[in-house]
Amino acid sequence: MKLYSTKNKAHLVDLKEAVLRGLPPDNGLYMPEQIPQLPQEFIKNLEDYSFQDIAFRVCKNLFQDYIPDNDLEKIIENAVNFPAPLVKLEEQIHILELFHGPSLAFKDFGARFMAQLMSYFNRGEDKELVILVATSGDTGGAVAAGFYQTPGIEVVILYPSGKVSNLQEKQLTTLGHNITALEVAGTFDDCQALVKQAFLDKALTGSIRLTSANSINISRLVPQSFYYFEAYKQAAKERPINFCIPSGNFGNLTAGLLASAMGLPVNHFIAATNINDVVPEYLASGIFTPRPSLRTISNAMDVGNPSNFARMLDFFKETNERSTWNNMRQRISGYAFTDQETEGAIKEVFQKHQYILDPHGAVGYLAIKEHLKEQPGTTNILLETAHPTKFIDDVERVIGHSIALPEQLEQIKDKQKDSVKMTTDFVAFKNWLLQSY
Ligand SMILES: *Cc1c(COP(=O)(O)O)cnc(C)c1O
Repeated sequence: MKLYSTKNKAHLVDLKEAVLRGLPPDNGLYMPEQIPQLPQEFIKNLEDYSFQDIAFRVCKNLFQDYIPDNDLEKIIENAVNFPAPLVKLEEQIHILELFHGPSLAFKDFGARFMAQLMSYFNRGEDKELVILVATSGDTGGAVAAGFYQTPGIEVVILYPSGKVSNLQEKQLTTLGHNITALEVAGTFDDCQALVKQAFLDKALTGSIRLTSANSINISRLVPQSFYYFEAYKQAAKERPINFCIPSGNFGNLTAGLLASAMGLPVNHFIAATNINDVVPEYLASGIFTPRPSLRTISNAMDVGNPSNFARMLDFFKETNERSTWNNMRQRISGYAFTDQETEGAIKEVFQKHQYILDPHGAVGYLAIKEHLKEQPGTTNILLETAHPTKFIDDVERVIGHSIALPEQLEQIKDKQKDSVKMTTDFVAFKNWLLQSY
């Protein structure tokens, strides 16, 4: 399997290099050179396959024979080890619950699979691989859980002291083993700057095998295509199927495009955002205007310059008849909502169905309601990206009820935090890394 850079089709690398590098040197994004179609037989008979079987088939279709079947089976077994159930909310609206993993967000799928692949490609190396991640909260939790106790890999998570929620901090600081949390006296941007500088430092990269667990790593995208098939299977005879994706960097939606390119019969995609609406605006006007993000209650989608947009453009190449914009509009509709509307949706769904949406899912729910006016005969699957207790303060305030913590959070909430305090001084960070690894 070969991958190219979206900035240069001639720059081809194999899967191992794409996964361990994360980003091509020209700052494009890696894309599979070929996206083979799955056999019709398989798609027609999805009900005959378990989630893990589906993941294996889809993955093998993309990777071809790059990883031997026995090894790929083990990777999938370790990575895809929690369910993605589909729950019917109302006529024409189903919810795909992607929050049953250790950090309670869909990012667990990407993080676990990336950990398995990195560990696999790192085997036989006598030096450990050190992964640096800067986090504003959510990504760090998924990466920490995903890489926990993965052989040959050490993880260093930098987070801004006092700027992540108490439970998020517990997710980063209570695992131990190969996960080390650096509590930086600064902002998220400071954390990110330290990580960036580390990769540019010759003394560091010369003595430690450093890599990043970047969200645009192709190994995070691929496993996110698995659950589109799993959802389609569970929706059984309901057709035609639309998918609605609450979006920030648009990785989740791009994974849906990948599933569709492999032959999953997706009728239409619905892109839902908060007021950070760069992509819905593009879909409406044909003009893409990245800008600084604004803060909202669905803060994992507070993105002003979506990193996967380059991949989306790549999926909708200009044809003789139509521009990229027109090709994309044909397949994706975009909708954006305010915090006030989002809170209204959380309340409405709770009162009508006793189902508690998180703020991101609520944005998606609103988008489906709007879209049903355009395509009334469709069944719509909402990707619920996080468990509502991840945003417990806002959700409890809106529904006027307290909600119980799921087991994953109940287990860590009273655990002792263990972090290494760090300033924003690069030299101190560098020396700590050199001493530790
Ligand atoms: C990361 C995240 C999103 C946005 O996903 P993208 O793939 O970046 O579009 C949405 N909801 C939640 C809860 C997230 O953590």
